[in-house]
Amino acid sequence: MIIRSWGARGSIAVSGPQYDKYGGDTACLEVRTKNDQIIIVDAGSGIRRLGNRLRKERRSTFTMFFTHSHWDHILGFPFFKPIYDPATRIELFGCPMTTGNMVQLLAGVMKPPHFPVPYGEIEAAVHYQGVCAESLLIDSVSISSIPLSHPNLGAGFRFDEDGRSLVFLTDNELGHHHRGGKTFEEYTNFSRGADIFIHDAEYTPADYRKTKSWGHSCYPDALRLALAAGVKRFGLYHHNQDRDDAGVDAMVADCQRLAQEAGSDLEVFGVTQDSEFTL
Ligand SMILES: [Zn+2]
Ligand SMILES: [Zn+2]
Repeated sequence: MIIRSWGARGSIAVSGPQYDKYGGDTACLEVRTKNDQIIIVDAGSGIRRLGNRLRKERRSTFTMFFTHSHWDHILGFPFFKPIYDPATRIELFGCPMTTGNMVQLLAGVMKPPHFPVPYGEIEAAVHYQGVCAESLLIDSVSISSIPLSHPNLGAGFRFDEDGRSLVFLTDNELGHHHRGGKTFEEYTNFSRGADIFIHDAEYTPADYRKTKSWGHSCYPDALRLALAAGVKRFGLYHHNQDRDDAGVDAMVADCQRLAQEAGSDLEVFGVTQDSEFTL
């Protein structure tokens, strides 16, 4: 399994030299199975660059999932060039219970007067499956999901292939219960033993005094989950739009220090918009 992040920023895309290391694009994750099938999670602004790469590789068949329908996870969709190619086939999965009907939501993004090309004019064949299966198999990768603790609901995902696993829990607030969210223990069980664990860690404890209940975790809470679940590598994700590279570096360093104090050899890093992992 190859995993590529195409955007790690939360809420809104940013640019500028202070964001060079972690990048300014919002959420988009690519998972390639060992047989080179392509799974895409979320269509934040990062999906534009992914689309350009897939065009270059002449790839036209994809499976897509969405964690939820907030802007930073869907607004890149109209800029994903493969949707304007009649050769493109997209198997689109959505869970109406958590994300709503994804076709309607994506069509809403492109609805006049918000975008010049309406959804009805895209040329890709999109096959929508609005199912909430607890787990399903795409090629050699087994995918399971769990509801997020987040305003307006959402889903987190776990990808398992040949005993290796990735857990992707963005926009998940561990310090506050949102309607439909799960308990800390349930998120721990879901994430158990993951080789790579990517979790929302948007806030510092100082930020969190005023941002509690906004739908994102402060990093010590996400670290606590990483340690409880015994994951191997913990990637901080959904970087705040005002947090520069030095700010994210400081959070990563503090997590690493706290993990060592707890007697763990957990590896901590900040996910960038160009991170790549092979499992
Ligand atoms: Zn978000
Ligand atoms: Zn969100």
